[in-house]
Amino acid sequence: MEQNGVIQPPAAVLEVLDRLESAGFQAWCVGGCVRDSLLGKRPFDWDIATSAFPQETQACFAGEQIIEIGLSHGTVALVRKTGHPVEITSFRVETGYTDGRHPDSVVFSRCLKDDLSRRDFTVNAMAYHPKRGLVDLFGGKEDLKQKILRCVGEPAERFSEDALRILRCLRFSAQLGFTVEENTRRALWQAKSLLSGLSQERVREELTKLLCGEYAAGVLREYAEIVFEVLPQLAPMKGCTQETRFHCYDVWEHTLHAVDHAPKSPELRWAALLHDSGKPAKKTFSPDGVAHFYGHPPESGRLAREILGRLRFANRQKEQIALLVDHHEDRLPMEEKHLKKLLGQYGEEEVARLFELMEADMSAKAPGIYELRLPDLEASRTLAREILSRGDCLTLKGMALDGKALRDMGVPVGPEIGKILRCLLDEVLEGKLPNEKALLMERARQLMQNRAEDAQ
Ligand code: ATP
Ligand code: MG
Repeated sequence: MEQNGVIQPPAAVLEVLDRLESAGFQAWCVGGCVRDSLLGKRPFDWDIATSAFPQETQACFAGEQIIEIGLSHGTVALVRKTGHPVEITSFRVETGYTDGRHPDSVVFSRCLKDDLSRRDFTVNAMAYHPKRGLVDLFGGKEDLKQKILRCVGEPAERFSEDALRILRCLRFSAQLGFTVEENTRRALWQAKSLLSGLSQERVREELTKLLCGEYAAGVLREYAEIVFEVLPQLAPMKGCTQETRFHCYDVWEHTLHAVDHAPKSPELRWAALLHDSGKPAKKTFSPDGVAHFYGHPPESGRLAREILGRLRFANRQKEQIALLVDHHEDRLPMEEKHLKKLLGQYGEEEVARLFELMEADMSAKAPGIYELRLPDLEASRTLAREILSRGDCLTLKGMALDGKALRDMGVPVGPEIGKILRCLLDEVLEGKLPNEKALLMERARQLMQNRAEDAQ
């Protein structure tokens, strides 16, 4: 794609540039792909900006598959059989956001300079053309070299036009490890109260990218109070000391270390951020002055669901994250029956993630704790692999007896069938009962009899 900062757009992008230009328009690669190429990284996707207005762009690609992803903002995506869709956006002028949320109006322009001026940071405001080279009106290339994030234009104005830029600034700092230029940083802090007006979906996207950044922990540490502006439930963690021999940091600092050690997936990074959020509310002391946090996992789980729900996470992802939080303190080494229940209820992938979270958590505690706890964690990982490779029964589906067999034995259709099956499964998971049809039937008969007697 590129070598030593030389930008080589893929053929599909070159073709799009060509097509627009032969129709008499200007077309440039802009934004993240230029930034990433100059950094020697392979761009995730290629955005094209053009002097063509949206209808004109559509006309250039008549007959091809086009998605109007943001036509009112001037964006169309061109879908080709191979590769990523290429997004083409008409040059736009910044028009201001009186509510800090929606642009007041969208005004298209024929002028590249207008379009670059409305972009957020100098490193994101460069354009590149394979024949015409780099257009860098705001010193973006130098800022890239110096690893600096600097607003295009007057920072205070830019943050008040769109408060999301505050989070974007933290996000790019977390992804790239860049420092924030002083004027931009001052404006960032001054504008933080504007964050409350943002749509939760936009906040979620930027926070998730921030959390998955290589430098996330440092950014969360430096800008904690800005993050608390959008996640106020986390504020009590900072300064919540942990007077126990297992910990050497307060809850917030421990959390930052856990985030840093967690693999960079959205689920694990969010779970690491939230796993101890319930601690401040659950803190108590025993007479010897030792701090305890009894019952904090369900409290953290409750907060996680509240926070992720407010950020409009899809239910499935919300639960995946919250379950990790719920179970992060489960006893190690795990007992076989507990591990089987987790595997049966949540699946192999989620349990593997739980172990990753536990590992990140223990590596963020007092010196020596990690080495002390790791063998128990590894034993649980090994046991999970054994259970899975043996093909042990973990779910109702895996049982050698099903609802139909119970009906044939005379259990009436209704909730009773489910109750008996779950009871049998529990006993199978606990190792009290082999998963064999004849034995399951015999035990089912006993259970039916007990229930009948209880009912009398
Ligand atoms: P990524 O690689 O994560 O996609 P990106 O720089 O491409 O990074 P996008 O969110 O895709 O980020 O935005 C594309 C470009 O649009 C940015 O590089 C920037 O120039 C501009 N941009 C996006 N959002 C804003 C905003 N809120 N204010 C100003 N400019 C923005
Ligand atoms: Mg992008």
